[in-house]
Amino acid sequence: MSLIIAGTMAFDAIETPFGKTDKIIGGSATYAAWSASHFTKPIKQISIIGGDFPQSEIDALQSRGVAFEGVEVLKDEKSFFWSGKYHLDMNTRDTLITDLNVLEKFNPVVPDSYQDAEYVMLGNLMPSLQKKIIEQLKNKPKLIIMDTMNFWMDIAMDDLKQTISMCDLLMVNDSEARQLSGEYSLVKAAQKIMAMGPKYLIIKKGEHGALLFHGAHVFFAPALPLEDVFDPTGAGDTFAGGFIGHLAKTGDLSFENMKTAIIIGSAMASFVVEKFGTERLTEITSSDIRERLSQFVDLVNFEIELV
Ligand code: AMP
Repeated sequence: MSLIIAGTMAFDAIETPFGKTDKIIGGSATYAAWSASHFTKPIKQISIIGGDFPQSEIDALQSRGVAFEGVEVLKDEKSFFWSGKYHLDMNTRDTLITDLNVLEKFNPVVPDSYQDAEYVMLGNLMPSLQKKIIEQLKNKPKLIIMDTMNFWMDIAMDDLKQTISMCDLLMVNDSEARQLSGEYSLVKAAQKIMAMGPKYLIIKKGEHGALLFHGAHVFFAPALPLEDVFDPTGAGDTFAGGFIGHLAKTGDLSFENMKTAIIIGSAMASFVVEKFGTERLTEITSSDIRERLSQFVDLVNFEIELV
């Protein structure tokens, strides 16, 4: 079943306590597409890039089943650029530079060939653009997921709330859930956010896992304790790609299958942090993924006798 992924395709410059990169390929839609491509195809990408975005990366994604009809290329302009520096804990980071570049001119168009998509992942992007994409969908998808970040809460809260009201599932991290709801308790925050429209909410807590809320149900997925986290960039987008990739592959939107999807998302995120950028996502195989999933099963599997 086909899947639309929208978001940024970008260059990133990343600094962690363990190393530093010059410009490498990044972007919310790039990470999500690499991750989802391990589960489903075709993936119908919506983004904008400049003439500086390498053809080799486009070729690599196309060979994984990613369609580029919805990716606008502005030949004489520069791609979106983001630079960030991680703190020693690797869970928190400072954004050093956000150069919107082509993003300032982005007016996303959903091609006719994308109209059959039943699953939609709106990766981190200006909320008004995420909304424009939803408004162009002629057939109601089975599931619309959106991701966002504090950057947009600071500068576009009204647009953001409107877009959130049009989605089925929102993904944010814990501090964003608190900022969006004005509640410190994540349970109260979840109730307030679901009252804004989405039936499901995922709150990501970095190395402390993720929570899935739906009505009165809550499910917790741990993150795999890793000896070395090299670069956490893109972990959220990779998680999202694995999550929706599994749902699109199975076509099953039960809460039980969403639990599986959140573990798959966590497994994919555990790979991406092992190297800089998208590199790990390009080299892992389905047997690597299966092995990682069995580590998750071992991590949380226990028996308890209730008396
Ligand atoms: P994550 O670590 O999951 O939050 O995602 C990091 C990716 O998001 C990087 O590759 C960036 O290029 C991209 N990114 C950073 N800031 C923004 C933004 N304001 N809008 C869209 N994408 C962004």
